[in-house]
Amino acid sequence: MVIVGAGFGGLFAARFLRHAPVEVTLVDRTNHHLFQPLLYQVATGILSAGQIAPPTRDVLKSQKNTTVELAEVTGIDVAARQVAVVRPDGRPLTLPYDSLIVGAGAGQSYFGHDEFAEFAPGMKTLDDALAQRERIFGAFEMAELEEDADRRQAWLTFVVVGGGPTGVEISGQIAELSRRALTDNFRRFDPAAEVKVLLFEGGKEILATFGDRLSEKGTKALQKTGVEVHTGSIVAGVDADGVDVKGPDGTVTRYPAKTKIWAAGVSASPLAKILADGSGAECDRAGRIKVKPDCSLAGHPEVFAVGDMMNLNDLPGVAEVAMQTGIHAARTIRRRLNGEEPQPFKYRDLGSMAAVSRRRAIVSFHGVRVSGFLGWLMWLFVHLAFMTGFKNRFKTLISWSLSFLGRGRTERALTRHVG
Ligand SMILES: Cc1cc2nc3c(=O)[nH]c(=O)nc-3n(C[C@H](O)[C@H](O)[C@H](O)COP(=O)(O)OP(=O)(O)OC[C@H]3O[C@@H](n4cnc5c(N)ncnc54)[C@H](O)[C@@H]3O)c2cc1C
Repeated sequence: MVIVGAGFGGLFAARFLRHAPVEVTLVDRTNHHLFQPLLYQVATGILSAGQIAPPTRDVLKSQKNTTVELAEVTGIDVAARQVAVVRPDGRPLTLPYDSLIVGAGAGQSYFGHDEFAEFAPGMKTLDDALAQRERIFGAFEMAELEEDADRRQAWLTFVVVGGGPTGVEISGQIAELSRRALTDNFRRFDPAAEVKVLLFEGGKEILATFGDRLSEKGTKALQKTGVEVHTGSIVAGVDADGVDVKGPDGTVTRYPAKTKIWAAGVSASPLAKILADGSGAECDRAGRIKVKPDCSLAGHPEVFAVGDMMNLNDLPGVAEVAMQTGIHAARTIRRRLNGEEPQPFKYRDLGSMAAVSRRRAIVSFHGVRVSGFLGWLMWLFVHLAFMTGFKNRFKTLISWSLSFLGRGRTERALTRHVG
């Protein structure tokens, strides 16, 4: 069988099949399994790239029935049961399959304004997070060089678009950088007094999926950290020097800012459309393919779509859904091999959480709502538990101690051109 994607969906499917009598080929265009929920900590210098991205080969090295193939999937022919891939050296390859699980994830959506991407990149891959890190720490360096006060302020103003967990977490960490980690580092400006972090959210509140009470607590905690929260505010224009924002009263305001981060909107992998075209399935507005209750495609019980790229009962695009659908697809394949009937997928909602700042998080779990320090301890525990590999957990614990108990950011080296 073939699995596309070594994300939460694909990797958990592969691991579930470790003792099954199947030959698995796991294809991914990167060599690592990425823990996306901690990308923002790479972007803000807390964790290194390797801590959240263990090599897939290493993770699966003792799984003898599985081969890891580093290649980009370019086509899927569901009628011929073949996956077309291109290897990094340009060589094409065709992978035939009896069963296929596709967990190719999602990318950023700019709601029809793809031209914003150049100035307000998103954060979906390790490359994105490393590029953001260069931009964030590079902006502080540029501010130190700048003699004109207005231009310096533009370098010291950080705009984050989107008030979901990712936008909240990254804006909170940039504020903490300026208020704690970078104090005393610069001679021509005071980061604690001069850095502005602006969070723009189109809806009426941030963290809306957590409900009013937690949303309000999250807003207050974020403001206390130093983030300016602008709700009901649509970013209508983005260029190299700033953003134009349409406020709740309809007026458009210009905010000069050199560093913009896009954390709003997702769009499913193009492989969802390729599967839909081949099988006659539908895609939703976010490009996610609609699947049957067991996560397979209509008319193709041997093909499954899992995780962020599929839509089943409008489940959210979160890691738990990806892991559980990946495991469900793998279990269905094993049941078939045993001559058993497939069963519908049932989601076990394990709640959601967001770390608003150092020592403050909000957690929502089956009607139980926790915030503040207790929420943060729960957040720490869950994220450590879901990281892959003991070594990564251990190293992460040390990095968190340095950053959250102390003030250090160990990952600040700039390697590209700044400015
Ligand atoms: C910044 C950020 C923060 C997040 N925070 C949270 C959080 O706090 N809690 C939570 O539950 N969820 C969070 N999520 C969402 C969560 O990470 C996703 O729901 C989850 O990763 C989806 O898993 P997946 O397997 O569907 O896709 P992914 O994890 O995206 O994996 C897809 C894999 O497919 C590979 N791939 C894609 N296209 C191709 C191709 N053509 N050829 C070969 N390989 C391909 C990719 O390289 C990737 O390895 C966050 C996401 C982001 C981006």
